Amino acid sequence: MSSSQQPLVTLNSGQMMPQLGLGVYKVNQDIAVQLIQHALDVGYRRIDTAALYDNEAEVGAAIRKSGLAREEVFVTSKIWNDRHGYLEAKEAIQECVDRLNIGYVDMMLIHWPCPKQDKFVETWRAFEEALETGLVRGIGVSNFNQPHLEKLLASANVTPAINQVELHPQLAQQSLRNFNKSHGIKTEAWAPLGRARFNENPLLLELAASLNKTVAQVIIRWHLQLENLVIPKSSNPDRLAENFDVFDFELSHHNMGVIETLNTETRIATNPDDMN
Ligand code: NAD
Repeated sequence: MSSSQQPLVTLNSGQMMPQLGLGVYKVNQDIAVQLIQHALDVGYRRIDTAALYDNEAEVGAAIRKSGLAREEVFVTSKIWNDRHGYLEAKEAIQECVDRLNIGYVDMMLIHWPCPKQDKFVETWRAFEEALETGLVRGIGVSNFNQPHLEKLLASANVTPAINQVELHPQLAQQSLRNFNKSHGIKTEAWAPLGRARFNENPLLLELAASLNKTVAQVIIRWHLQLENLVIPKSSNPDRLAENFDVFDFELSHHNMGVIETLNTETRIATNPDDMN
């Protein structure tokens, strides 16, 4: 599939965003530039990084080296939990933009709500300002449960474009997905492959074999058909290509239901209420 044929999603900001992107959490700096260049060659046009991942500079360098026009690649970054509050967030956004060094950033997210700090409403003011000045083209949140979103929406001038949350077959997040959708917020799935824990799942192995696909491809397809934005990570060039080769098949209603039976609403990572 050429990059021009991959599905695009329209956000409430008016931006068009590729539905499938590459996540680069734990992609080491020494391989990041080459890996991201390979991803762009394969057809990926969206990269998900964060201040925490310590590879924003490499993401920017790979994009600059690729020869692609800036507007052809959609880049998301996130400010970390120790930068909440209006002034701190304002500086943190500028630092992300500077490290990436590709002009504007397409999407900036609050990485975690950190409800015990209780500063995300102030933090969001800095995000709205960065949008107004053109430093970033879209703003959103990550790891916001419904009560966090309700609190933010009560005072926000701009509704987040995205809520990026842990979401995989074991944690389908139906209720939060419905809430996001009812407010025009796109749901983005992190740890979409459940960090490899479904690779040997007998149900998924059987389903994948019947479709002549891999378990990872089947799970990514499940996300696409649920209308999730999805950002699988791999540092392995072949797997990275495999994860992008998901546009030539569909899961039937029955097969979507088979995957749903794995849902136990169980997290792999921390509940956002408990993250500071
Ligand atoms: P993931 O579910 O994408 O799993 C990645 C792991 O799955 C890889 O390390 C590899 O072991 C395995 N894998 C990948 N492709 C495979 C394939 N084709 N076959 C077999 N195994 C394969 O987990 P993740 O990296 O935690 O999440 C993806 C991205 O989401 C991250 O890179 C990051 O960008 C983002 N993220 C965001 C948050 C947040 O708080 N907002 C948290 C974690 C991750």
